[in-house]
Amino acid sequence: ISNICDNECSYCGFKHSNPIKRRHLTLEEIEKEAIFISETLGIHSIILLTGESSINSIEYLKNSIKILKKYFSTVIIEVQPLSQEEYNILYEVGLDGVTVYQECYHKETYSKYHLKGNKTDYSYRLETPKRAALANLRSINIGTLFGLGNPVEEAFLAGMHLKYLINNFLGSQFSISLPRIKEAYRNIKPENIVNDKEFVQFILAYRLAFPMVGINISTREGQNFRDNLLPLGVTKYSAGSVTEVGGYSLSNNSEPQFETDDHRSVQEIVSMLKTKGYQPIFKDWEGSL
Ligand code: SF4
Repeated sequence: ISNICDNECSYCGFKHSNPIKRRHLTLEEIEKEAIFISETLGIHSIILLTGESSINSIEYLKNSIKILKKYFSTVIIEVQPLSQEEYNILYEVGLDGVTVYQECYHKETYSKYHLKGNKTDYSYRLETPKRAALANLRSINIGTLFGLGNPVEEAFLAGMHLKYLINNFLGSQFSISLPRIKEAYRNIKPENIVNDKEFVQFILAYRLAFPMVGINISTREGQNFRDNLLPLGVTKYSAGSVTEVGGYSLSNNSEPQFETDDHRSVQEIVSMLKTKGYQPIFKDWEGSL
């Protein structure tokens, strides 16, 4: 819903210094997108994503969540790290969860890629999932962005973070994502490209170490590869995603944050799952119960 960002992550097209067209949707525009996604795509679970900026005030996030809760049973935010008090406020209006990637667990490497803005505060970001859990949020998703730090070290440290959260916050469900920068993108050349074989090893390691956690695979990955990951314990697939602000139903939309590689519709993903003998689940939680 917004690509305005105060930070300067050298690997991201939304970084503050990048002279791209910026958009920050109004509440009316958010509702239009919500109606389109819920009615046209049939999606019940959604991530509300912004750049990390003070323009996303708590009031704005609160009102956005209230709108989305009219159309989706699960609403998760991926916005700037908030305080526990702020998460408490959003929980009260129905927020289900938070996605926050540490991006890089190795502290010195982290500083190399995060050059300006609040995101330079490594520790505040690291403790974000904990603050979200203390605010009773049900669904918390973490991960590292593969391509920045040493992949094996990063996979291990993300696993340690996950283990700490699982052991200490029994009221929340945790999941892990494995976003990766696959190739040079917008003049950024990742120093530690993770190949498909390593990627599969990391998924298997997480599945074996944490039998109950969710493992999410986004449309950053290609169709054939995603489909072959299915039997390895992946639990959540995004589908029909766009990464432009207002990219579903609004004209005048902006540049994408990153390119997606699986362009199938929701219905095509559903058919693929059924063909392979899996049951697609759109809604796995009912808050009012
Ligand atoms: S990764 Fe997030 S915080 Fe960093 S520049 Fe991009 S949108 Fe902003």
